Amino acid sequence: MRRKGLPIMASQPLAADQPASVDLGPAVALSCRECGERFPLGPIFACESCFGPLEATYDLPLGDPEGLRKKIEAGPTNLWRYAPLLPVPADVASKPNLNPGWTKLVKADRLAAELGITGGLYIKDDSGNPTHSFKDRVVAQAVEAARAFGFTTLSCSSTGNLAGAIGAAAARAGFRSCVFIPHDLEQGKVVMAAVYGGEVVAIKGTYDDVNRFCSELIGDPLGEGWGFVNVNLRPYYAEGSKTLAYEICEQLGWQLPDQLVIPIASGSQLTKIDKGLQELIKLGLVEDKPYKIFGAQAEGCSPVSTAFKAGHDVVRPQKPDTIAKSLAIGNPADGPYVLDIARRTGGAVEDVNDPQIVAAIKLLARTEGIFAETAGGVTVGVTRKLVENGLLDPALTTVVLNTGDGLKTLDAVAPTTGPSVTIAPSLEAFREAGLAG
Ligand SMILES: *Cc1c(COP(=O)(O)O)cnc(C)c1O
Repeated sequence: MRRKGLPIMASQPLAADQPASVDLGPAVALSCRECGERFPLGPIFACESCFGPLEATYDLPLGDPEGLRKKIEAGPTNLWRYAPLLPVPADVASKPNLNPGWTKLVKADRLAAELGITGGLYIKDDSGNPTHSFKDRVVAQAVEAARAFGFTTLSCSSTGNLAGAIGAAAARAGFRSCVFIPHDLEQGKVVMAAVYGGEVVAIKGTYDDVNRFCSELIGDPLGEGWGFVNVNLRPYYAEGSKTLAYEICEQLGWQLPDQLVIPIASGSQLTKIDKGLQELIKLGLVEDKPYKIFGAQAEGCSPVSTAFKAGHDVVRPQKPDTIAKSLAIGNPADGPYVLDIARRTGGAVEDVNDPQIVAAIKLLARTEGIFAETAGGVTVGVTRKLVENGLLDPALTTVVLNTGDGLKTLDAVAPTTGPSVTIAPSLEAFREAGLAG
């Protein structure tokens, strides 16, 4: 049966004999973030009563923190070590997938010295994931939800990295994929989206236009049977970002950091990192202490930082114009929740302009040997700004996220980066260049 016009139940999987309950591990229900109403696990994303966003709720394994810690530590060196805290079946690690996660937490002493941070600075470097961005984490959860609900095609609206992560995950797990991207993305993102063999549709418009298009598609027979990872599978997809919180704390020796600097596109990642930290406290895996969450945006797409600075609760949409295309969402779905978290934890939301983003990419590269995409330039640039304006305490432990690989956004730095000099293959020419010694 097709349920056109009903946004919440649209795009049902094709399988008519869908089981009444699905095996998604400890996830027991979806609950509305606005009114709290609960719904059975399914490919739905908005509350039937108030249209608020739905999120996964769990029977968390409380009561034996030592046992849980040992179980996690004995698990695989990828994000499935946290399967008991994710909406996935218990045997997920044995299924064909890209096994993302467990990326490096790099102690960044040379960058810290440049920024004047004395309390310990770390880069959580998610460029090390299989498709070189943090998106492999969220897609891995969505694939398991798609499997459980009987979808056979994976889709999404993407600012670039998500399209690549879906292409690769679909190829590995044997799904069809058809993804939608704005027409003006970086070549590296487009090639990475297409090389895995899935369909890539470039739309003449911004990400927000693409997203609106996908919302229409999901309520239309054309999109029937499709799992849109960041729409009808969003409650499961989003949970993947919690693994960043788990990994950071485990890699710090099961401790909360004092401060985190996190990029904002839709704001989903930031809100779920906070959720992950709260779960670790509740589970007794880390000692409860205050932490501050800082959000980072590009000035050319800064709807959340603009609202934060103005003291508003409502995020007014913007038309993006920035080199940080992976973060170029002008109407961020989780914007209001990001504001709540930044204010509740005593953090802030800040932005940097394009030249500052480029300078920060180069700063991170020359101090730590990490080549970040523009989103990493945004977080490092914002960290610098937060130290300068006194909002970030340099004496506290700080974790800055790098969510993607610089090889995907070469255009951002190529105009100002290249050979020091081009010379003839002779010692004389090299001597004249003045680089010896
Ligand atoms: C998608 C993305 C983010 C954050 O996305 P949210 O929508 O805020 O969860 C951050 N960095 C990169 C590189 C991304 O691709």
